[in-house]
Amino acid sequence: MSLESMNPGLFAESPGPDLTGKDSPPLRHVTQLERVERLLRRSDAVCSTTLLKEHLPRAAAHVHTLRRQGWMIQTRACSDESHVHETYQVEYALVALPFDPSGS
Ligand SMILES: [Zn+2]
Repeated sequence: MSLESMNPGLFAESPGPDLTGKDSPPLRHVTQLERVERLLRRSDAVCSTTLLKEHLPRAAAHVHTLRRQGWMIQTRACSDESHVHETYQVEYALVALPFDPSGS
């Protein structure tokens, strides 16, 4: 019997190592956090509506978590001119990653 068949839920989303270290939240939460991380890394800024479209309604909480881990993330009004927001929407911009002596 493979490990996967014993723990179907464990492999439902991209496995990947738990890089959060201490104080680890549940796996599913980590996966969402990693998705927020990736969005921030690959864009100058990520609009809150983009995060909703990516099915990350708790993105604000994840941004908060990342900040506690040392990420510098700016919150500002959405500046994407292709977005036409009827209401005030924020975007998150990654300013700097935390210093990680062991990382890439
Ligand atoms: Zn926007």
